[in-house]
Amino acid sequence: MKVTFLGTGAAFPDPERGQSGILITLSNHRHFLLDCGSGTTRQLVCAGVDPADVDVVCLSHLHHDHICDFPAFIITGWMFDRENAPILLGPKGVKHFSDHLFEEGAFKSDFLARSHYQARKDNIAAIRPDIREMEPGCVYEDKDVRIFADWVEHIPREISECFGVRIEAEDRVVAFSGDTAPCDAMVELSKDADLLIHECTFPQSFIEFRKKTGVGIHAHTSPGELGRIAKQANVKSLVATHFGHFDSTSPVLKKAARNHFPIDLMGPHLFDEMAVDIRLEYQGPLLFARDLMRIEL
Ligand SMILES: [Zn+2]
Repeated sequence: MKVTFLGTGAAFPDPERGQSGILITLSNHRHFLLDCGSGTTRQLVCAGVDPADVDVVCLSHLHHDHICDFPAFIITGWMFDRENAPILLGPKGVKHFSDHLFEEGAFKSDFLARSHYQARKDNIAAIRPDIREMEPGCVYEDKDVRIFADWVEHIPREISECFGVRIEAEDRVVAFSGDTAPCDAMVELSKDADLLIHECTFPQSFIEFRKKTGVGIHAHTSPGELGRIAKQANVKSLVATHFGHFDSTSPVLKKAARNHFPIDLMGPHLFDEMAVDIRLEYQGPLLFARDLMRIEL
């Protein structure tokens, strides 16, 4: 099994990072996509993967940095001669989201123009995802893979459900947190996993700053909390991801972040602080995700 990090950033456009997107590839070349934030479709091509070859997409929650490339992903698959409808897993509301995009939605004009051509009429199924709204438990199973999901704690569930997932395939287990504050569900999902991919949006010094200034109502996991989760779950390796642009040197991002971050402190050196805090409780293999980073399990 191979894991490819397509996007490792958070809600801002970042020169160094796409938004959330992770590809799981089995040894038989089947592809499963977790999240589809901005840039994900292009990054698939950068990674040498045809978007039309991705069978299953699982969206952890409906925040824009996890879903906004989904229209591009679907339309590209259609143009790239995908034959079958891709399977779309997501929280409650994902059907509403998808149904308002294509034939009767935001991209209706695009749909009408392209479906004029015979080739696009022939593979019209490609633009009609097989949508399955998730409930906690096993959300997908076939001969190669089982995917389990549970609610995590990011934003109030009545506003939007947020899921973490556990993928079992080829005698390996990969867990992915989506966005969340530390929660028991994620410890359970990642129990004894070969790889835990967990959000770690801000270093502790930025969390303190955000507390003082009253920004950041959405819950995330601090580096110290992440170390505790990895230890409690007894994971064999850990990749931190979904970085909230604290490492960026972009003047545009610094200007946009001036009310959210201590921008004078921004830069890649903050990963040193993050590592020290994760290491307070977790001593196993640790990587900080970068776009197009690949891991063989
Ligand atoms: Zn996010």
